[in-house]
Amino acid sequence: MKTRLEKFAGLAVKVGVNVQKGQLLVINAPVDAKEFVRLLVKAAYEAGAGNVMVRWNDAIVNKEWYLHVDETELEDVKSWVIDQLKYVVDKGGCVISVTSPNPGLLKDVPGNRLQKASLAASKATKFYSEHMMANKAQWLVIAAPNGDWAKKVYPDQEESVALEKLWDAILTASRVLETNDPVAEWNNHMDKMARNNAILNGHRFKKLYFKNNLGTDLSIELVKDHIWAGGGETSVNGVPFAPNIPTEEAFTMPYKYGANGKVVSTKPLNYQGKLIEDFYLVFKDGKVVEFDAKKEKEALANLLDTDEGSKYLGEVALVEHDSPISNTGILFYNTLFDENASCHLALGASYAMNVKDGTTLTKEELEKRGANQSLIHVDFMFGSADMEIVGEKANGEKVVIFKNGNFAF
Ligand code: ZN
Ligand code: ZN
Repeated sequence: MKTRLEKFAGLAVKVGVNVQKGQLLVINAPVDAKEFVRLLVKAAYEAGAGNVMVRWNDAIVNKEWYLHVDETELEDVKSWVIDQLKYVVDKGGCVISVTSPNPGLLKDVPGNRLQKASLAASKATKFYSEHMMANKAQWLVIAAPNGDWAKKVYPDQEESVALEKLWDAILTASRVLETNDPVAEWNNHMDKMARNNAILNGHRFKKLYFKNNLGTDLSIELVKDHIWAGGGETSVNGVPFAPNIPTEEAFTMPYKYGANGKVVSTKPLNYQGKLIEDFYLVFKDGKVVEFDAKKEKEALANLLDTDEGSKYLGEVALVEHDSPISNTGILFYNTLFDENASCHLALGASYAMNVKDGTTLTKEELEKRGANQSLIHVDFMFGSADMEIVGEKANGEKVVIFKNGNFAF
């Protein structure tokens, strides 16, 4: 396992964030992942990082804070936190975020307290998230397990066994095996994804139609000059990187006012520590006009109520049902994995890179092109084994994109 973790750290540093000689690397990580973070730090210096700065966090400490501090404290984003992020932006630092979700941990925290805190934090650090979302520097999201998460995925196992099994699943889904060279494996994988993107981009679709037996019947117009992306990306200053490990998705930008119909979720959505299950959304001219959920409907309502843009779509992503993550058959209760096992949509902000010259446009210019803006970007899954997707070109010609959950070309 040690060798696989070292390989994973090397993959994250070299292919994922691709830290450059002398560059600052920031690692956001939970204390539970300290052994793995040490491997990341070592690999980063070996790859030539100029400085590695670790910003530790702990979900339990955060939970106590959400439960107990004064309301004014919830909304008071400290100036030194903002200064730290400003420093990262000014230095052109790249960022690895190690996520380690605790599904359901925050279920006893009142939703409005979570909402207040996250809204204040999003507003105060907007300059930073916009910087990263526009690929002004390389960034990477990867995951490491914790005991609670492992027990959620493997409820019948003892914690130590569950942890080991979850690491194994994460590494397998990330194409890191005892016997392979994950860097070479990833270069191959990214070539394949680039080929799919090239085909999708070649078709210049105006609209996509999604249909399955669960009740999804949705049409999504795409913005003019949209770009299908996924797998490898390139930062504004020309450094190639892979922002998600693992990744299987081809994604692009929906036209803000162009979604119509119903979408039914196929996996639970872990939002602000609450698990929203069996939900659907109905869109009219891009906006969610009706929704329901069998569990945690209030959390879904909070999500939709964040701001004006949180009721509109910012991303549409195609993922084959037959993918390595999907084939594990495991529900990870985590977007990084579950979104790469299933077609998904995101409520909220769009990615500027998904429209031609997007990263050079101002917010107002992007809005004019139909790019949704929001403080949030939350993915939810709706792919299934029987998903049919048809693309329609400007001249009305239709092309089958997905047949039985997989690419038809
Ligand atoms: Zn996505
Ligand atoms: Zn997304």
